[in-house]
Amino acid sequence: MTDAVHRLITGEQIEVLPETGPKEAQALAQEVNALVARLRSLEQARRKLLANLVHELGRPLGAILSAIQALLGGADQDASLRTDLLAGMESEVRRLHRLLDDLAGLHDQVVGGLELARETVDLGAWLADTLAPWRQAAHERGLDWKVTVSGTLPITTLDPDRMAQALGNLLSNAIKYTPRGGSISVEAGADADAAWVTVRDSGPGIPPTEQERIFTPFYRGQSDRRFPQGMGLGLSIARDLVTAHGGRIEVDSTPSRGSAFTLWIPTERA
Ligand code: ADP
Repeated sequence: MTDAVHRLITGEQIEVLPETGPKEAQALAQEVNALVARLRSLEQARRKLLANLVHELGRPLGAILSAIQALLGGADQDASLRTDLLAGMESEVRRLHRLLDDLAGLHDQVVGGLELARETVDLGAWLADTLAPWRQAAHERGLDWKVTVSGTLPITTLDPDRMAQALGNLLSNAIKYTPRGGSISVEAGADADAAWVTVRDSGPGIPPTEQERIFTPFYRGQSDRRFPQGMGLGLSIARDLVTAHGGRIEVDSTPSRGSAFTLWIPTERA
């Protein structure tokens, strides 16, 4: 066992230790095995993160570089081509920005230091502000967009930017996974001690077996349904942000009939 732990320290792979012998030795072997399993999963996560990062950074940077080269090569003389290339560059930069937000969220998870800057927020105004850019994004993707708010949303205390990031991750997924011609519907309301926002889409849906796993960092759905962007962090970050507020995220989805993600925000009426 000492030998195995030593090899672990020097970075060698070790096999599962037999959990036999005196009780104390069995318990120690069990703990060493658990430690090895944990180290393995951390190592896998690290590799996945690096592979995803290379992919996620490479694609938009390549697209931006091609657009710059086209502009330098004379495309800037054609007004409509110039506008198209600039618009393309803008959306790639936005994508990089979202990636950076994901990485910042991952950093918070790793260092465990999610600090909320709570303030008094009028949820109705906050929701309208948060939804505006996403309505635009949905329209650009050819998706129908509808917002229904039941009654008046309360005024409460929360970190508006963090909560907007959580809701944004749900909206970003709905837009990303729903094919052109589909629809996104946002519904919101409040009961005595919580407000809720549901993001409903007419996309591919999520099989029941995957519904809990999608909140695990780096988990991405099966490749045939998978959109070739994102690192599998959006939902895990959204859940962390909402949990830090004392809230929760629920998923209700039927394959081929769409998904609905509901974000519950506890409200202290100010
Ligand atoms: P990413 O979108 O980067 O893959 P997320 O953590 O945001 O990572 O989502 C994890 C997985 O959950 C996705 O890969 C996808 O399979 C599934 N998923 C999330 N939102 C939706 C949705 N609205 N419709 C269908 N599948 C979804």
